[in-house]
Amino acid sequence: MTIQQLLNKIVKQNPKADLDLIRLAYDYAKDAHKGQKRASGEDYIQHPLHTASNLVEMGLDEKIIIAGLLHDVPEETSVSIEDIRKNFGKDIATMVAGITKLGKIKYRGMQRYVENLRKMFLAMAKDVRIILIKFADRMHNLSTLDALPEEKRRRIALETLEIYSPIANRLGMGEIKGVLEDLSFPYVLPEEYQWLIRETKGRITKETKYLEEVRREIKKILRKENIKFLSIHGRTKYLYSLYKKLLVKDKDFSKIYDLVALRIIVPTISDCYATLGIIHKYWKPLKGRIKDYIATPKPNGYQSLHTTVFCLNGKLVEFQIRTPEMHEFAEYGIAAHWHYSESGKPKSGESITVDSPSWIKDLVTIQKESKDKKRYLESIKVDIFQNRIFVFTPKGDVIDLPEASTPVDFAFHIHTDIGNKCIGSRVNDKIASLDTTLKSGDMVEIIIDKNRKKPSTDWLSFAKTHLAQEKIRYYNKHKL
Ligand code: MN
Repeated sequence: MTIQQLLNKIVKQNPKADLDLIRLAYDYAKDAHKGQKRASGEDYIQHPLHTASNLVEMGLDEKIIIAGLLHDVPEETSVSIEDIRKNFGKDIATMVAGITKLGKIKYRGMQRYVENLRKMFLAMAKDVRIILIKFADRMHNLSTLDALPEEKRRRIALETLEIYSPIANRLGMGEIKGVLEDLSFPYVLPEEYQWLIRETKGRITKETKYLEEVRREIKKILRKENIKFLSIHGRTKYLYSLYKKLLVKDKDFSKIYDLVALRIIVPTISDCYATLGIIHKYWKPLKGRIKDYIATPKPNGYQSLHTTVFCLNGKLVEFQIRTPEMHEFAEYGIAAHWHYSESGKPKSGESITVDSPSWIKDLVTIQKESKDKKRYLESIKVDIFQNRIFVFTPKGDVIDLPEASTPVDFAFHIHTDIGNKCIGSRVNDKIASLDTTLKSGDMVEIIIDKNRKKPSTDWLSFAKTHLAQEKIRYYNKHKL
């Protein structure tokens, strides 16, 4: 790849980008990496170029692209962060410093895993953009794995599946998660990968052909019913995600209805529901397959309407209906904050500070307070790698908790004092015991007793979050 190819790509997305500054960053990095080679034998500069190019594909702004070009300069060369700051400013230097800190991890086995996670969370809590650059960097490294020894290949791919892809998922970056997983899949499970390729090839071609017919038909129908739509396109499921789904369906392809699905993008939320109604008017929906992720978004914020219907010739087809905003979020998640708007300006103004999601901050606090590595790992697994639920405060604020959380978890999440003084709760306006399992969409109110001094140790048997458990232990150990 050449710098000119990168610049052409950038201009297509953002005609007003400062190309001179980007070229300057390229020359600076090229000079710093002079004489260095990748394991593949290529000039080192190819790696930052491809990393920057991946960032452009994520639709990100030029500051992040520049940080991508410079990301390996301080680690692999003698140029310092201070020098980058002088040349490119504080914001870019801070991002590059963040990636450098993530840098080399010297632990092995479980230790390595915990340490890796911890560093990723600290970096994210500081600036989520660092993780976006890390994803772009990892994508290029995965696509050049063949140059590395077998053991190293497997380790990097496995680490991607265990750490990077759950984080991408948690940040709502569906597209990035899919790409990271599909690049890693062949190295972690080579035989399974080959099997899946063999099995899907013919099916996907057949499905795509059939869906082209359905697409023509649904266009006709929507026009006839006077429903405005912006686009209708097919999307093929990512291989690794298909593989995981097949594992729980006894590897039975006839139970997979969304190998290829049809996506309908419409202007507004009410158009989404209108479109769903029209589809059901023409084709009978399959029971239990209508999902309203608009009213109840997925824990990572994903929104859409899904339905599976008996379509042309009685074949089952999944439709996904959403607005352009929902579509952008579904593909890019948190990265959408740094996308260019059509005016060519970053969406959130010139100096963008997007707060890290609160769950990242919680994790950093937990990590600081927790000395026991194993317990820390367990709590991380519970707190992120499991599904989350969304519940509401009486004022309508949304609170994000792990699945099977109770009113006690909710209370400590709101405030330590509320947790310490809580004596009961109301869930959806009905009195509920403190060990009630909360569900997404519940409205939760905590009843407190001002004179209560500390939480009950009995709650440890059902409190789900690490935060609540730590607080309960803490306030029972210390006299107030
Ligand atoms: Mn790199």
